Amino acid sequence: MKITGIETLVCHARMRNWVFVKILTDQDGLWGWGEATLEWHTRSVIGAIEDLSTLLIGEDPRRIEHLWQIMYRQHFWHGNGIVRATAISGIDIALWDILGKIHGVPCFELWGGPVRDYIRTYCHLGGGKMELFYETHPKDAKRFGELALQAVEDGFTAFKSMAVPPTMPIEGLTPIHYAEACVSAMRESAGPEIDIMVDCHARPSPRMGIRFARALEPYGLYFFEEPCWPETMADIAAVQNAVSTPIATGERLVSQHHFRELFELRACSVIQPDITHCGGLSEARRIAAMAESYRIAIAPHNPQGPVSTAASLAFGFATPSYIICEAVHADVPWRYDVVSESYTVEKNGRTVKPWHTPGLGIEIIESEVSKHPFEQEVLQRVFYPDGSVGDW
Ligand SMILES: [Mg+2]
Repeated sequence: MKITGIETLVCHARMRNWVFVKILTDQDGLWGWGEATLEWHTRSVIGAIEDLSTLLIGEDPRRIEHLWQIMYRQHFWHGNGIVRATAISGIDIALWDILGKIHGVPCFELWGGPVRDYIRTYCHLGGGKMELFYETHPKDAKRFGELALQAVEDGFTAFKSMAVPPTMPIEGLTPIHYAEACVSAMRESAGPEIDIMVDCHARPSPRMGIRFARALEPYGLYFFEEPCWPETMADIAAVQNAVSTPIATGERLVSQHHFRELFELRACSVIQPDITHCGGLSEARRIAAMAESYRIAIAPHNPQGPVSTAASLAFGFATPSYIICEAVHADVPWRYDVVSESYTVEKNGRTVKPWHTPGLGIEIIESEVSKHPFEQEVLQRVFYPDGSVGDW
């Protein structure tokens, strides 16, 4: 059995260009789907996949670990930069889809079978619609409360918000009060049983991250995400040690080596590896094995397209410390036209049960994808009031 081709299909979805990876084999009707979406780096990732293809064409797709080692270690530069790691991830996901199809079982059966009966999903406020999630200013606490109620009415038992504004390295009480007001409004609308998450997008400095975390402590957040830059993990550890709220991070980390440092520092309670960036399902499983020994929970980052979601769910069904699946459903109105999925999301509670279809249980509808060709992603740039550069 041989790999005969690796194709990339770009599907423009406003904030992102979804990059679907299709691996073709010499067996009739046997191919696999992966995803290598990296917002604002679409052309780079497609080029990286083309470069990696030279190592893979003619190889046996069943030797996933061997091919992963080739992709990560050969051509001298290790695959731990975000572009190449995303390319490796997209290919790795597609190889697991192929292996599941060869054996006629869902991917999670290849990894020991389901460890749970269902997976809970959570949404972004506004369902992932760009304007509602990213552009509702934390000044507008009332709007946060309304969107929280909408999420609960849509059946979600958990949701995430961007309730921390872009903040200069040191600021006074104003941004802290904005965040408190937003979380208070969301808690009031959603009630005590709904899990609320706040994503800081690493906007605060380490010290401001601690101030936000302490201010939000009384609201019992499910987790508090990326409170400061991931470059210095000791800073994340300082936030984690300052509060009892679980700190989450890891969506920008690539490879087991970066996660190991996070674990050694006891820097967080939840890791969020992105399966389309961290090295694919193969590397995510290694990271998960390490996380187990530290009793750290896993909630993969997943705001991208439908192959990424299927990969996260398949991973979750085989990973004991997986707690919840990030999901967006309203980023583009035609989201479900480009894919057929063999799982359904329960309207009440927004949970997903294991599927029986082989592999990732999805098929990308290429004729629908071709209706949304590449366009430059909507730029998201942040400047502080004095004109200096801030973090999105
Ligand atoms: Mg995040």
